[in-house]
Amino acid sequence: MESEHFDTLRLHAGYEPADHLQSPIVPIYQTAAFGLGDTQTAAAIAAGTKSDAYTYSRVGNPTVRAFEKRLAVLDGGVDAVAVGSGMAAISYALLNVAEGGGRVLAPTNIYGASLDEFRTLLPKFGIEFDFFDDINDLAAIKSLIQADTKAIYIESVANPSTEVADIEALAQIAHAAGIPLIVDNTFPTPYLCRPFDFGADIDVYSSTKGINGHGNVVSGVIVDHGKFDWHNGKFPQMTESEFILGNEAKQQTASFYSKFGAKAFISRIRMKYLRLFGAVMSPFDAYLALLGVEKISERLSKEVQSTKAIATYLTTNSHVEHVYYSGIEADNKLVKKYFPRGIGAILSFELAGTEQQVAAVLDHVHVFTYLPNVGDVRSLIVNPVKVTHREMPQAIRLKHKLNQQVLRLSIGLEDVNDLIADLDQAIAQAF
Ligand SMILES: *Cc1c(COP(=O)(O)O)cnc(C)c1O
Repeated sequence: MESEHFDTLRLHAGYEPADHLQSPIVPIYQTAAFGLGDTQTAAAIAAGTKSDAYTYSRVGNPTVRAFEKRLAVLDGGVDAVAVGSGMAAISYALLNVAEGGGRVLAPTNIYGASLDEFRTLLPKFGIEFDFFDDINDLAAIKSLIQADTKAIYIESVANPSTEVADIEALAQIAHAAGIPLIVDNTFPTPYLCRPFDFGADIDVYSSTKGINGHGNVVSGVIVDHGKFDWHNGKFPQMTESEFILGNEAKQQTASFYSKFGAKAFISRIRMKYLRLFGAVMSPFDAYLALLGVEKISERLSKEVQSTKAIATYLTTNSHVEHVYYSGIEADNKLVKKYFPRGIGAILSFELAGTEQQVAAVLDHVHVFTYLPNVGDVRSLIVNPVKVTHREMPQAIRLKHKLNQQVLRLSIGLEDVNDLIADLDQAIAQAF
């Protein structure tokens, strides 16, 4: 299966119809729990010797499992855990790597809720952040690493500036320090970029966005590359003895590392964070997300083409001060290296106008929908400073040229001429 190509795998990976009454579509197992059969089977499940068994949908569900397996294959990882939202994926990944105290390096130029969590909430759990402003200032990033730094966290394509990260160079810096690189790869999705191909260790996704692509489900995924050495002394949570992994009767103990090896990180996410913190994805949501993944390639290919055309159009509009879309920068080496199929369907632009004129654009679009989301088949528009990035302090926003005049677009599957005409008339009316 793994030797097949992306377009085949997005339809078939991680699911065997023969195991499900030959249903070609992954069925919705809308149940909270599963029968244990007889007491012998129940004992085998409890001992972990019957690993394909399902018991309770907080710990595992066949519909959700198919989505996890499909994403793991598409992303090139050893396994994945699906969760209730992208924020749950980010929270669990960072807690799992740095719980009990430690530092994490992250850029300031990230999704508003992520920045808010890193600045104001995770420090209350003993996880401190060292922020950097420029994702491409590798020397500055390297200089921030301390003895108790546990990970480097980045977005592959920043929201909404679309600045692109040098994943391979950042992975090398992380590995030289014995820590993993964690990548929020939400904007590109595995179709446009697979960070594991360049040495990243953990990917997190808001599958609310381009993976599902239909704007109908909030969900998230954590994918593990399975290559990081959790045994290097920096991550005692991976090597300490765990009661639930051992065998009480035989007085045997085990750690996540000794029991799961390359899958230690993702197994710990499932058995600690998903099982005990409990932000599960529902079977119905997994079913919808799987339907979205079935046409991810066609969706994103068309969306990328339309986004390039719209970015190019905006550069010609005299009321537009600046267009932020690294996908049309012909001399951008990082875009060429990491995003041969395009950087994605999100762009932003700064209007050369007043706050009232920005509001007028929002009030006059009718093909675009004014709402705070991205990666939908419908085209969306939003004013980040007032909505998606309001948690970002002004000093940080201004460093990244994110002012009141910036509008973010997420391009869907409408006719690109209608989208351009819609922007054109809305901007004309504002002036
Ligand atoms: C939306 C988003 C998130 C948060 O995901 P939710 O599914 O809304 O919790 C995280 N990172 C990025 C880049 C996003 O766009």
